[in-house]
Amino acid sequence: MCIFCKIVNKEIPNNTVHENEDFLAFHDLYPKAPVHVLIIPKKHIENFHSTDPETMAKMTPFIQEVAEKVGVDKTGYRLVTNNGADGGQEVFHLHFHLLGGGKLRWDHSHEDPHKSL
Ligand code: 5GP
Ligand code: ZN
Repeated sequence: MCIFCKIVNKEIPNNTVHENEDFLAFHDLYPKAPVHVLIIPKKHIENFHSTDPETMAKMTPFIQEVAEKVGVDKTGYRLVTNNGADGGQEVFHLHFHLLGGGKLRWDHSHEDPHKSL
């Protein structure tokens, strides 16, 4: 069972922000911004590329609620999903990073932008 499924099953503790029947939002253990929340479907889906439109449609209002709950809906936030190896995905259970609470830098480009791929 993957680490996020264990969090859903409460085998691993988490700091929950918001929850409903289908989704869970909790604080990232190693925050990369003053606000760093992970938003996941409770059912195991490997990543964005293998998800379905229905899940994404249901997830949209849930993510908006999370942003409101942590108080970044008016100040702004970044929503990121890392997909696969080149995207930097480390946990293979679909999750969106909601980052905010301060002005964010934009430096997530290729490791060496001057080197051709
Ligand atoms: P990825 O690199 O797959 O997009 O992001 C995985 C994220 O999960 C990382 O930001 C990492 O800090 C976070 N993370 C990994 N293990 C745990 C955990 O056990 N609990 C929580 N709350 N976050 C975790
Ligand atoms: Zn899982």
